[in-house]
Amino acid sequence: MANNFVEIYDTTLRDGSQGEGVSFTVAAKLRIAQKLDQFGVDYIEGGWPGSNPRDMAFFEEVQQLDLKHAKIVAFGSTRRASLTAAEDPQLKLLLEANTQVVTIFGKSWLLHVKEILRTTPEENLKMIEDSVAFLKSEGKKVIYDAEHFFDGYIDDPKYALETLKAAQRGGASNLSLCDTNGGRLVEEVKVIVSEVKSELINISIGVHCHNDSGLGVAVSLAGIQSGAKLIQGTINGIGERNGNANLTSIIPNLVLKMNCSLRCQESLKDIRALSLFVDEMSNQSSDSKAPFVGISSFAHKGGVHADAAAKVKRSYEHIEPELVGNKTRVLVSDMSGRSSIIMKAKEIGLDLDPQSPELKDFLGSLKEMEYKGYAYEAADASLKLLLNKYLKDGQNHLKNLKDHPCHSEMLNLLKFSKIRKK
Ligand SMILES: [Zn+2]
Repeated sequence: MANNFVEIYDTTLRDGSQGEGVSFTVAAKLRIAQKLDQFGVDYIEGGWPGSNPRDMAFFEEVQQLDLKHAKIVAFGSTRRASLTAAEDPQLKLLLEANTQVVTIFGKSWLLHVKEILRTTPEENLKMIEDSVAFLKSEGKKVIYDAEHFFDGYIDDPKYALETLKAAQRGGASNLSLCDTNGGRLVEEVKVIVSEVKSELINISIGVHCHNDSGLGVAVSLAGIQSGAKLIQGTINGIGERNGNANLTSIIPNLVLKMNCSLRCQESLKDIRALSLFVDEMSNQSSDSKAPFVGISSFAHKGGVHADAAAKVKRSYEHIEPELVGNKTRVLVSDMSGRSSIIMKAKEIGLDLDPQSPELKDFLGSLKEMEYKGYAYEAADASLKLLLNKYLKDGQNHLKNLKDHPCHSEMLNLLKFSKIRKK
């Protein structure tokens, strides 16, 4: 595996489903799992078999799918303080999920050990090691999620590291450091992942971050810069509170800007389609401003920007939109200039003459209409109607539209129809 290889661990179906307003049926979970597999993620965390019957049904049915790339992961927690790992009913359910890979989370932060679990620091370490070792002895590959790791490390670095060492002794394949509360800053994550890397050798480190400070993507990428080799996140950043680290931003950044090698990198052009699919399945409206995949990501409104982008696309675009399945859009409004109109016309197959003196008058008319209250920015179809029908068909088409409420304005525009190239 290349040195810059990073594994993508998707938790849309588990952590993502905890987002407000998100609810997946078993059928939707199966369809998303198929899409994620086609896209090429490495792991699909399907749910918590102990937490609800729906997740257990998913683990049963997902075995019928012929997945090509991804490994399905069952998620759960370390054993209870009062039981052995073999006796713990929740760990038994994890085995019943019948997945090759199991992820369990445990406590890294003494605040949680003492006040939430109400056990001793020593018992917590045993719970981690025993639980990992038990699952490992049952033939599972185990990923250990160190819950609240960064908060715990800032509170007591020695103890937080001890919890990781317990998981490593138990036989975990990867230790994923979680910013569960989403409150840590980029520099903190960068430094802490580096320190963990220098303490724990010969084991893969991962990051699982949340977006409560608006930094879910940034801290995840900082983890990779410090040597983490696995990133956990969700499609569209869905998840509890402000959501999880957004894979639709993380993946393009890793591939296009950080020179990382990913199993799914060949599918990068499908990432916008994947984002829209998950929006639909999770009943969420698409975020037009989502980086890379949003409909506005490459939309130019300012006349100066549109003009520059028409000459040299990268002058106002950080990547080629097609790389992520998106496209450049021109928004026509009273801020538009000549270039915007020409680009827009091109979009709908009309070749306008940039030198035409009438184009200026056309723009003047457009601006006047916007001033009167007509808005064309979000009305591509209306603008297309004006450009296409009027500039193309001219007088003949007018007959059909004379009852249109904008008839007089359209008439006004019609007189500039000769700006079309012959
Ligand atoms: Zn989480």
